[in-house]
Amino acid sequence: MRLLVVEDEARMARALQRGLQAEGFAVDVAADGPAGLDLARHGGYDAMILDVMLPGLSGYRVVRQLRAEDVWLPVLMLSAKDGEYDQADGLDCGADDYLTKPFSFVVLLARLRALLRRGAPSRPAVLSVGDLTLDPAQRRVSRGGEEITLTAREFALLEYLMRREGTVVSKTELLDHVWDAAMDTAPNVVEVYVGYLRRKIGRDVLETVRGAGYRLSAA
Ligand code: CA
Repeated sequence: MRLLVVEDEARMARALQRGLQAEGFAVDVAADGPAGLDLARHGGYDAMILDVMLPGLSGYRVVRQLRAEDVWLPVLMLSAKDGEYDQADGLDCGADDYLTKPFSFVVLLARLRALLRRGAPSRPAVLSVGDLTLDPAQRRVSRGGEEITLTAREFALLEYLMRREGTVVSKTELLDHVWDAAMDTAPNVVEVYVGYLRRKIGRDVLETVRGAGYRLSAA
């Protein structure tokens, strides 16, 4: 079993690495958020132990980003903070378990083994509406068996609409869920992207409901 430990406190990182190696795990260590994110994406690990307070990118942001990219590596978060609020934050952002520092190594090991037994969190299933299919894990879209290439934003828009198949989704809702809050978006950006999407997936499945929004349904 290969583990990734992301921890900026060198002494703690070393202690974890040695302890886990002594238990028979292969262990890599990253000392900041961006390095941890990069390794987690490409490293083929069985689980990750992730500190919350990290330079560069917090543990919350790392796990949120991984989940957004459909990386379903089991994550055990570590934090010096305690209290229900932080724990909820950690689990909300996609971590699988949470341990508050200071913790005993025996407890960490038990939690880690439980996590590894459970395996990767369940991937979202392939979505389909009529002959249109979208695989969130593989990031693939096809219609009638023909592969369709979408940009990341078009993909996110289509995924959101497919998850709400048959219901009218307003532009505001799409802006909230598909575009980052921080992004300065022009009001017509949704219309523009709906236009791009229609050109690729076909006009017949994505209907404009005048004054209300859009509805995706089987043609
Ligand atoms: Ca830290």
